[in-house]
Amino acid sequence: MNTPIVLNPRTTETLQAAIAGEVFVPGEAGYDQARQAWNLAADQRPSVVVFTESAADVVQAVRFARAQGIRNAPQSTGHGAEPLEPLQGAMLLRTLRMQGVRIDPAARTARAEAGAQWQDVTTPAGKYSLAALAGTSPDVGVTGYILGGGIGWLARRYGLAANSVTAAEIVTPDGHLVRADAGREPDLFWAVRGGGGSVGVVTALEMRLYPVRELYAGVLFFPIQRTAEVLHAWRAWTGTVPDEVTSLGRILRLPPLPEVPEHLRGRAFALVEAAYLGDARTGAELIQPLRRLGPELDTFAMIPAPALAQLNMDPPQPVPIQGDGAFLADAPAAAIDAVVALAGPDADTPLASVEVRHLGGALARPAPGGAQPRIDAKYVVFAGGFTPTPELASVVRGQAQAVKDALAAWHASYDYYNFEETPAAASAVLSPASYRRLQKIKTSYDPDQIIISAHPVWPSRARM
Ligand SMILES: Cc1cc2nc3c(=O)[nH]c(=O)nc-3n(C[C@H](O)[C@H](O)[C@H](O)COP(=O)(O)OP(=O)(O)OC[C@H]3O[C@@H](n4cnc5c(N)ncnc54)[C@H](O)[C@@H]3O)c2cc1C
Repeated sequence: MNTPIVLNPRTTETLQAAIAGEVFVPGEAGYDQARQAWNLAADQRPSVVVFTESAADVVQAVRFARAQGIRNAPQSTGHGAEPLEPLQGAMLLRTLRMQGVRIDPAARTARAEAGAQWQDVTTPAGKYSLAALAGTSPDVGVTGYILGGGIGWLARRYGLAANSVTAAEIVTPDGHLVRADAGREPDLFWAVRGGGGSVGVVTALEMRLYPVRELYAGVLFFPIQRTAEVLHAWRAWTGTVPDEVTSLGRILRLPPLPEVPEHLRGRAFALVEAAYLGDARTGAELIQPLRRLGPELDTFAMIPAPALAQLNMDPPQPVPIQGDGAFLADAPAAAIDAVVALAGPDADTPLASVEVRHLGGALARPAPGGAQPRIDAKYVVFAGGFTPTPELASVVRGQAQAVKDALAAWHASYDYYNFEETPAAASAVLSPASYRRLQKIKTSYDPDQIIISAHPVWPSRARM
């Protein structure tokens, strides 16, 4: 826990003079906007917010925080702000303005600065018929997503996004910019591949891209009254599909807002969303058992890879949300029944979305070299809802937890890093072996616990 620290304005002026970016302290114009995360439910109140514009700025900010004896919380968009510890007394280091992206079509790689969002990578990569292992949402940060693993629409074919990282540029907690890759800084390289952001401030990541011109992808919408039938059929279907198919079964209650298309506005559905890496004819054959159920709306078509960002209909702008998720070792019919009971047509629930994603395929095969080398779980569940008021926030949190609890019999031995929205330690979202190694790396690179991260890891001698 951080204690409130009031920084002398003269001191922060020194930092402001040393960087191209901007510095904000409480009480100053712009502070409230600067501290605001994408998730509007997160009320972050750091002692100072620094917007960095380059790796050199990050070096200055980290050294400044160290010299002042304050801790440092790196953040880009703030999609993952909810699990962070309170930031009173700390520096919030925002990389949002570092959005440079370079695509190397010949090497099939991308380099993304720490503030880049997925759409900044997928759109230019798509021009070369290349796809990145992005998640469902175009404005989620590349860095936070990758640090926590990264499960997207190509996951069953190409694995976790973190395991496609080929290099990372990192400012260490003692303020030095280093490059970590297969040959240099092997511990840091291992840690950033799925172990979270606790060992330094990432300034850029390099990653492999994959040849994808188009995919057969879309959504089948069924009235919510058909949830049990649809989700059971989807679950059975997941046992039959090749690794080229990544899909999810979902219960979605759309808000009555003008930005939702009129035919969907304020309505509730059971959905199957899927992406198939292949041609339309085979894709249509694969989806046929679900299509045969007779959806009310069927959007399956060949689409370019960047258009995958629209499939899951994630909120296009900052919203207040709460949610929680868990890896499931398996999801037998009884698990689907439990989801339907809590979020199906007869449930009085504030949850806007409960989704079960199909894992396996490349995710389940060993990809050594990172903190999440293999995912044993066959499914992952996430339940969440909008929380415009604190009262609603606690109800939604309770309901998301209830979904998680109802599936306890099928939980894997740890949860998914990126879907754990409560302030859990890294030991709750990594395997014991990975946590132990991460703890050693933290002890060696950040013994004083300068870096604050979602899902913290504590140096062995500073257990809390
Ligand atoms: C609408 C929505 C859709 C999502 N879809 C998916 C999905 O499809 N698949 C999936 O796997 N996850 C998904 N997520 C979860 C998402 O990946 C995590 O919330 C992730 O942490 C977001 O990264 P960010 O950089 O945008 O968030 P931030 O809140 O900015 O960062 C999250 C954490 O990452 C670390 N971090 C960020 N930048 C740095 C840095 N430069 N150096 C060191 N550490 C850093 C910090 O610990 C920080 O607290 C989704 C989340 C939302 C809200």
